[in-house]
Amino acid sequence: MSWIANFVRPKLQKLVGGSKEVPDNLWYKCPDCGQMIFHRDLAKNLKVCQHCDHHMRLGANERLEMLFDDGVFEKVEVEAPITDPLKFRDVKRYTERLKESKAKTKSNDAIMVAHGKVSGAQTVMAAFDFAFMGGSMGLAVGDGVIKAARLAVKQHAPLVVLTSSGGARMQEGIHSLMQLARTTIAVEEVREAGLPYIVILCDPTTGGVSASLAMLGDIHISEPGAVIGFAGQRVIEQTIRETLPEGFQRAEYLLEHGMIDMVVPRKNLQAELAKVIDLLMVTSKATKPMTVTTKSTAIVEAEILPPVTVTNAEIKSDADSKKDGIESRDESKK
Ligand SMILES: [Zn+2]
Repeated sequence: MSWIANFVRPKLQKLVGGSKEVPDNLWYKCPDCGQMIFHRDLAKNLKVCQHCDHHMRLGANERLEMLFDDGVFEKVEVEAPITDPLKFRDVKRYTERLKESKAKTKSNDAIMVAHGKVSGAQTVMAAFDFAFMGGSMGLAVGDGVIKAARLAVKQHAPLVVLTSSGGARMQEGIHSLMQLARTTIAVEEVREAGLPYIVILCDPTTGGVSASLAMLGDIHISEPGAVIGFAGQRVIEQTIRETLPEGFQRAEYLLEHGMIDMVVPRKNLQAELAKVIDLLMVTSKATKPMTVTTKSTAIVEAEILPPVTVTNAEIKSDADSKKDGIESRDESKK
C-alpha cells in the first residue's frame, strides 16, 4: 500500500498535471449577510457587498489605488528605526510575527505613505493596513505618519490619513505609546503650516490610534458601518454593567453624536475627498500659512521626533525660502 501511496500516486498525479484543485477564491462569502459573491463582481463593486451594502476591509495599497487619480501614486519607503526594541516574545517572537506579516502584506509595516494627485490636486496620504498585525502602531508606523506630515509641509499639500487599526502595538511596549505623542506633534506641524489634515476612519479604528491622530483631523470622514471607538463594546458593557444601544461605535452613530463629519459610501469617497481638499486648500491659500518655528520648539521637536529622513533643517530651509519680507524682518530682530 505504501508503495502505491508514496510512489505510484505522485507519479500519476505528475503525469495528469497535479491535483485538480478548484481555486477557492472565485467566490467570496459576505461576512455580514452570508451571501456568496463572485470575486469579479466584488472587485468591480470596490469590495462592497451588492446584497447588503457591507463595506469589507481593504488593504493599504487598495485604498491608495482607489483614492489617487487613475490609481497612480508614488510610494515613500518607511523603515523601522529599531526592530524589536524590547526583544519581545509571547508564544512567538515579535521578529517572527513581523516576518510573517511582511510576507503576507508585502509591506514593511502597518502603514503605507504615498503622494500623488487627487482630482488634480497634489496630496500626501498615509494608509494603515489592518492585515499587518491588526494595523497596530509601533515605531515604524509613527515614523510613517511623521514622514507623511513633513512631506505634506514640504509639498504644501494636504495630508490625508486613512486609519484602520486595533491601537498601539503591545510588542513595542512604551515605545508604542510614545507614538501617540509623536503623531500628534506631526499633525500639529501640518496645522502650523496652514494645511488641511483630513482623516478617513476605516473599519476598525480603535485604541491608541483613535486616541491620537485619528481624532485630530480638520474633517473626519468615515465609511458606512465602520467601527470607531477607544475600548471595545464588550469591555465597556462589562465595566459599566449596562447594555449599549444598537449601532454603538458605528460610523452612523458617531455622525449622529457629532464625533465625525461625514459618512460616505466607498464609491463616492474619491469625489467627496476631492471636494473637501478643494474647499480647504482654497481657504488655506486665503489665510496665509503660519510657519512660526522659534528656536526652542525646533529643539524640542528634534528630541521628540528623531529618526526620519526629512530633517528639520531641510524643512526649515524650505520654509525660509517661502517666507515673505515681514517674517524675515521678524527673524532679523531676534
Ligand atoms: Zn452582504
